[in-house]
Formats: sequence, structure tokens, C-alpha cells
Amino acid sequence: MATVLCVLYPDPIDGYPPRYVRDAIPVITHYADGQTAPTPKEPLGFKPGELVGCVSGALGLHQYMEASGHRFIVTSDKDGPDSEFEKWLPEADVVISQPFWPAYLSAERIAKAKKLKLALTAGIGSDHVDLAAAARANIVVAEVTGSNSIGVAEHVVMSTLALVRNFLPSHRFAEQGGWNIADCVSRSYDIEGMHFGTVGAGRIGLAVLRRLKPFGLTLHYTQRHRLGADVERELDLIYHPDAASLASAVDIVNLQIPLYPSTENLFDAAMLARMRRGAYLINTARAQLVDRDAVVDAVTSGHLAGYAGDVWFPEPAPANHPWRTMPFNGMTPHVSGTSLSGQARYAAGTLEILQCFFDGKPIRPEYLIVDNGTLAGTGAKSYEMK
Ligand code: NDP
Repeated sequence: MATVLCVLYPDPIDGYPPRYVRDAIPVITHYADGQTAPTPKEPLGFKPGELVGCVSGALGLHQYMEASGHRFIVTSDKDGPDSEFEKWLPEADVVISQPFWPAYLSAERIAKAKKLKLALTAGIGSDHVDLAAAARANIVVAEVTGSNSIGVAEHVVMSTLALVRNFLPSHRFAEQGGWNIADCVSRSYDIEGMHFGTVGAGRIGLAVLRRLKPFGLTLHYTQRHRLGADVERELDLIYHPDAASLASAVDIVNLQIPLYPSTENLFDAAMLARMRRGAYLINTARAQLVDRDAVVDAVTSGHLAGYAGDVWFPEPAPANHPWRTMPFNGMTPHVSGTSLSGQARYAAGTLEILQCFFDGKPIRPEYLIVDNGTLAGTGAKSYEMK
């Protein structure tokens, strides 16, 4: 019997389950790069479209855990030495956590987790795990690559339109009984004809470029390896050798790269100063890619016209986090990758990874971040270790 310690966000304040507004979600079998969506063995343990990312939803795993005889602990109490997470960590063979409510697996915590063999991210982005410490402790780190990429891309497109068109302040005027057209439109533009650049054109970044193409923008990107000439031609892409070159060439910058030591603080005060006056910055990748206070200064001074995204540090963000109240922000809690649609796939992927792990079968390489004491699979392509 193994102990599986699962950290999920709390239930809705009005109770669980919520009243669903739709009866079903579309079935997605493949992603844009040809990868198949998760294929766990039945039973799935939940109905796709159900809220499974919270504690009562338990990723739909109760049935599997009961049938397999594993001890299954599900909690949202993840921070501090007296948390349920720290209490159970020394017993845990498997830790499941999500980027939206991350159980930070620091080197200190990994040192306490003597039995831990698998750190599984129900979602994408395993930077809440100290990958070097996990590798030293021979812990497998895996995530459900591809599961929520399109949801995040849609959130970036929405944020782009919301910021540039000044949607949120205009909505507030309407809600509050106003009809202040001049106030609404004094900061409102069309995105048509603007220059948009993404730092990172991987699964999400490229999906953003594809979705924005019909809006009539000029599209730019940077990453270490150039995309194929066919893709560059298809989207009329302008390639930049680095983020600094892209930052000064576009009206809207999107960050879509993983967080690892050399990408931390990439958008510091100097990089923000390179951006055009009135440019917009969108970040659904990771908060520590930018200097928190330099962003506040840039938006407050008017150098940037707006900042949007859904990633914060730490998470959940403290009530006094300055991005909650800074002007012209389009921030949400960390939700882009955990729509009911995304949950169905990352919960199924979590089950698939657990089945492989407990049955002694190989985990798909695209799901692996760390294996056999080193970066592996997607991890070897996407991350660097300290
Ligand atoms: P991918 O690995 O598919 O793409 C990342 C891209 O970033 C790669 O194409 C890579 O290209 C590029 N890149 C990596 N390092 C650098 C660098 N130093 N400079 C420039 N480019 C770089 O990842 P995804 O698109 O799936 O996800 C991107 C990130 O989005 C994740 O790491 C995660 O942090 C975040 N995310 C957020 C979610 C949310 O809910 N908000 C959900 C899912 C993911 P190359 O190697 O050629 O440089």
C-alpha cells in the first residue's frame, strides 16, 4: 500500500458540487502537435466537465485509490510547518499538486520526504518542485504536458483584447450605471495592425500566434531554437535572437517560457524600459519571470499601458499583493489552465501517470520532467537545473 498525498484548491464557497451551466464538454482526442490526449485505463472515475480540481473533486481519483488499496490523502492545507501537507509528507510515496495551488516542494521539504518516489503535477509547469533536489533524491517528476495549453492560449488572446480594447474599465462603467463613452474609449484601441511578440513559441506560444493571425497583427517571436521555415512562412513570423530585441519592436509582449534559474527576472526594470511607451505585457507563464515591483512602477508611471495574466508569487497571492490593485491590470487568480475543459484532461493524465507508475510501466516521455536522477523527456527540453 502506498500513501498518495494530493494537494488541491479549496471547494467553491457555495459548496460542492456546483450547479453546472453546461451538460457536457467537447471531446478532444489529439493536440496540435499530434500528441494524443491522456488515455488512462477505465474507469475514469469522473464525468468530463465535472469540477475535479478542488478537494471534493479529488481529480476523480477516489475510485482508483480505493480499488488499488492506496491511502489517499487530499488536502488544500499546504503552507507552513503545521500544515496537513507537512504532516503527511514524511509518509508520502507520491505527491500530487497543481500549479494553481502549488504545494512547494523545496529542497528542505524533499529532505523530509524520505519515501517520496513521484512528484506529479496535475497540470503543466513543475517549477514549484526543486528539480535539482528531486533529481538528487531520485524522485520522478512528471506533469500532464499538453493538457491545458489551449486554455492558456485562449486566456492570452482574451487578455490581449481586454487590455488593448480597455474592456474591464468599460465593463465597470456599465455595471455601475454609467454611460461614459469618452472615459471608456480614451484608452481603447483596435489590435488590428499592431505588433505582437511572444517570448517562447512552444505549445502555448505557438497556439497564441495561430489564434491571433486572423486579427491582422504582425507577429514576432523569440526562443533559443527557431521554428521551422514552413511555420514562419505560414504565420509571417519575425524572429528575434533574444527577448531584448523583441521587447523594443512590438506593442504587445507575451511571456510563454518556463521558469528556471536563468529565466527568473528576465523582465526586470531594464527590460521593461526597452518596451515601447504604451506597450502591454501579458504573462500567463510564471510570475517570477518579471520583477514584481518594476511592473507596478512601469504601469503606474504610464510607461506600460497595461499588464495582464494569471500567475503570481507566491500562490495564493497575499491579499495585499500590489498587482491586485495596480492600475490597468487584467489579473485573475491562476485559472487559465484549470477550466472544466482543462481539468478533464489533466485529471485523466494524472490517472494515466499513476497507473503507469504503480503498474511499473513507462510514463510517456512527454510527461517526464525528471527521471533517473536527471532531467528527462519534456524536462530535458524545457528546463535547466541549478
Ligand atoms: P513549451 O515547453 O511547449 O514551450 C516553451 C517554449 O519556451 C519553448 O518553445 C522554448 O523554446 C522556449 N524557451 C525556453 N527557454 C527559453 C529562453 N530562455 N528564452 C526564450 N525561449 C525559451 O511549454 P508550454 O508552451 O506548454 O508552456 C510554457 C509555460 O507556460 C510553462 O512552462 C508554464 O510555466 C506556463 N503554463 C501556465 C499555465 C497557466 O495555467 N497559467 C498552464 C500551462 C503552462 P527553446 O527551447 O527553443 O528556447
